Amino acid sequence: MNTVDNWDVIVVGAGPTGLMLAAELRLGGVRPLVLERKSERRDTPKAGGLGGQVLELLRYRGLLDRFVNACKGPMPEPKFPFGGVHLDLTGLQDGPMHALPLPQAKLEKVLDERVEELGVEVRRGHEVTGVSQDDDAATVDVQGPDGTYRLTARYVVGADGARSPIRESAGIAFPGTAYPEVNRLAQVTVPDTAVVHANGDLEFPGLGTIAAGFTRTDRGLMGLAASPGNQVVSLYTTEDELTEYDDDVPMALEEVQDSVERVLGLRPPVHTPLRLSRFTFKARQAERYRKGRIMIAGDAAHQFPATGVAINAGMLDAVNLAWKLAAVLGGRAPEGLLETYHDERHLAGARTLLHTQAQVALRRGHDEAADALRAVFQELLADEPALRRMGALLAGADVRYPVPGADRHPLTGAFSPDLPLRTAAGATSVAELMHAARPVLLDLAGRSDLVEAAGKWADRVDVVTAESDGRPADALLIRPDAHIAWAATVNESADTAAPSLEQALTDWFGAP
Ligand SMILES: Cc1cc2nc3c(=O)[nH]c(=O)nc-3n(C[C@H](O)[C@H](O)[C@H](O)COP(=O)(O)OP(=O)(O)OC[C@H]3O[C@@H](n4cnc5c(N)ncnc54)[C@H](O)[C@@H]3O)c2cc1C
Repeated sequence: MNTVDNWDVIVVGAGPTGLMLAAELRLGGVRPLVLERKSERRDTPKAGGLGGQVLELLRYRGLLDRFVNACKGPMPEPKFPFGGVHLDLTGLQDGPMHALPLPQAKLEKVLDERVEELGVEVRRGHEVTGVSQDDDAATVDVQGPDGTYRLTARYVVGADGARSPIRESAGIAFPGTAYPEVNRLAQVTVPDTAVVHANGDLEFPGLGTIAAGFTRTDRGLMGLAASPGNQVVSLYTTEDELTEYDDDVPMALEEVQDSVERVLGLRPPVHTPLRLSRFTFKARQAERYRKGRIMIAGDAAHQFPATGVAINAGMLDAVNLAWKLAAVLGGRAPEGLLETYHDERHLAGARTLLHTQAQVALRRGHDEAADALRAVFQELLADEPALRRMGALLAGADVRYPVPGADRHPLTGAFSPDLPLRTAAGATSVAELMHAARPVLLDLAGRSDLVEAAGKWADRVDVVTAESDGRPADALLIRPDAHIAWAATVNESADTAAPSLEQALTDWFGAP
């Protein structure tokens, strides 16, 4: 077996999390290697879209247009399912939650192109079969197309999905719950003899009719969306079932026909599927996101019992981890920086678990009391502050990391707002300042004391002086992941602001 030394970071898995991590690591000047067990990019239909705060992050990197251009349609109306009710965010100005109708296979293609252009090596058809670590390095055993080999790296990140062999090898517990429920979704073609009535009911002459919308039977839930003149219909079923499915194994058409037959007693004679997918709901979170030189991210670290949130969480794990690994590998990280990856992203994951489990409670009840709960919840959402709050929760936009000194300013720990800025060089914005994924001290009040203090970190922290109407702070120290590490209150005295800035710079970016 060959041993080839010595990578900075080996990323295991080329899903959305692993690819995003590799791209962000390159921005930080790190040389990652991505190992992916499958030999081809997968085309199993998984997520139908990308939503949440990661879209803001991609915009802050100047990359959002690529993802928008890869979508077949425009941005969808901002209405989101939430545990059997709908969050209708259409009326909100600058709502916190956005989504793109970008199927996962296309998302992965865009990310793949991005890592290729950044010069990342992705080895497909190379499965990691074991991982170990000591004080100096982590070692992975790999089964490649030409046999087995061994690699070492300073760090290994398991972005290897919910069954994560890396998490298992590292002995990280993954406690939680699997809900005994299987959902199947199919876009299929109906035969010429079928009739879609004006009300959306679908009739198969001689066999029976499936009602438009949702039908509940004692075997499960049936959903139908069909329109007259269109031979393609969407079928959806939910059944209580405890089978463990592998999300990467595609579902056959017969499986959804069997399911409809069990739920409704009618086997639909449909054919030529356009999309077939099955999803199950689990609420699990790894106890640790880091064990020494081994880290986990994405589905390897968490599974949520609702759709639409997992990729957002995984890609944001990657963004949080990348700049910290880059700082450690660059020899300029303060003690404990890598540990904040666990602290911050475990907290963010716990918030996503909180609302997705609340969705389970809202969705799974089918008696009058549950109907009443949904009705009350929907009523509360008529109030704009409640709606905005739920939108932010759904997007993961409200996560405020528990950074030191978080009590000094309400923005500390939060994702930086995209302030429009006027600088001596012209108009810009916080989003534009984040393209390079470098830390920025943004001086919004001509604070020479703070600019001078930050000068000692000029090799690693950019300083930008700008004006912004209604400035929320005299200065913001923004991390590469766009979260605010530190802020000076408006007109804060130099006596307190400068020393506390120096402390924050040391805490986050190391001694000058
Ligand atoms: C039907 C369905 C619908 C979904 N809808 C949504 C949705 O609407 N929104 C949403 O956000 N999420 C959705 N999800 C969830 C989403 O697909 C996952 O959250 C996402 O794929 C996780 O990304 P990841 O990169 O963390 O892991 P994965 O995508 O699972 O990628 C892990 C990669 O690691 C590789 N790997 C595993 N073991 C090894 C090894 N030993 N060596 C090398 N490589 C290895 C795997 O082959 C895989 O490519 C859906 C899932 C399903 C099944």
